Amino acid sequence: MYSLIYFAAHRKKNILDFSNLKLIDSYHRRINYLRISITDRCNLSCIYCVPRHRLPKLNHNEILRYEEILRLVRISVRLGISKVRITGGEPLVRKGVYYFLNELSKIKGLEDISLTTNGVLLIKDNLEKIKAAGINRINISIDTLDKKKYKAITGHEDFHRVWSAIELAHEMGFDPIKLNIVALKGLNDDELINIARLSFTYPFQMRFIEYMPIGSSCLTFEQHLPVSEIMKRISSLGKLIPVENNANDGPANRYRFEGAKGEIGFISAISHPFCHKCNRLRLTASGGLRPCLLSDYQEDLKVPLRRGCLDNELVDIFFKAIRHKPIVRKIAKDHSIGVSDQMHTIGG
Ligand code: SAM
Repeated sequence: MYSLIYFAAHRKKNILDFSNLKLIDSYHRRINYLRISITDRCNLSCIYCVPRHRLPKLNHNEILRYEEILRLVRISVRLGISKVRITGGEPLVRKGVYYFLNELSKIKGLEDISLTTNGVLLIKDNLEKIKAAGINRINISIDTLDKKKYKAITGHEDFHRVWSAIELAHEMGFDPIKLNIVALKGLNDDELINIARLSFTYPFQMRFIEYMPIGSSCLTFEQHLPVSEIMKRISSLGKLIPVENNANDGPANRYRFEGAKGEIGFISAISHPFCHKCNRLRLTASGGLRPCLLSDYQEDLKVPLRRGCLDNELVDIFFKAIRHKPIVRKIAKDHSIGVSDQMHTIGG
């Protein structure tokens, strides 16, 4: 409503002062977090993420150019977005990514920029470039501490490379370093204790994530392990003491074992959806603006961008997207309510 009144008055002029307009949805959720997938391409083929039969990759001209993404971020910051996470596919495989991160960090009003990566390309040089762009917060996905299982899950023999990258990032002072672990029955569930134990040695934030049946993957819902079960399995390590979430926190419920340097977090998107506190929008590599990870609904930004639209029209699309943010959304086990787009195009 707010945006409709505004645009009725200002549509014809490209009025650039939208300082009074903030992305607050109909359920009073303040949307301040934008996750951006900069590519659908990846150098791994994780069994929970990619379909059995690879889908065609997007063409170069189908994905948003960096300049287009930067324009959208600048607009979104004026609408209240203060936190951006760069993801993919694998963001570090895209040419020019370090230039892009640098440009992103120059945007005034953006308080928090982070990166989610599989870590395969996190060699010293690249970590330095990420640091030079002012980015200190990285999430690295690593679902196992066993190199054979790593190969079974990702299709590649990169375990040692990724583990070295994690240690190097730690030595170089990246903080926080979050490790994303998708918990999978029959694949890594026998390792959850060993993974959680790392929090005694390293100040990392371990994030145990429930498998989400999004798009088609090589797994079935049988392999889903609810957070309650993950907690049960690691509880022999000690009492999990809740850690208070801060304003910039994501949906993880955070804990710490007594005496541990690091933390344990749980993301229960399926067993206990956290929609009531969802503050996110997602921008896909091809320019779709998605108000909910668990729904295929999206607004297209690429076509208007490329026909040279005014900023006001893009603002309108942001507001349209948040009007479609559901109050709650659950994926049905039988996939009758589900998501057909693939995780690696949406960005996780
Ligand atoms: N390539 C990067 C990486 O591996 O971190 C970024 C993209 S990946 C899609 C982002 C996150 O989504 C990763 O932590 C990955 O483990 C998680 N993910 C992918 N598919 C998932 C699924 N079906 N269920 C739960 N998490 C998933």
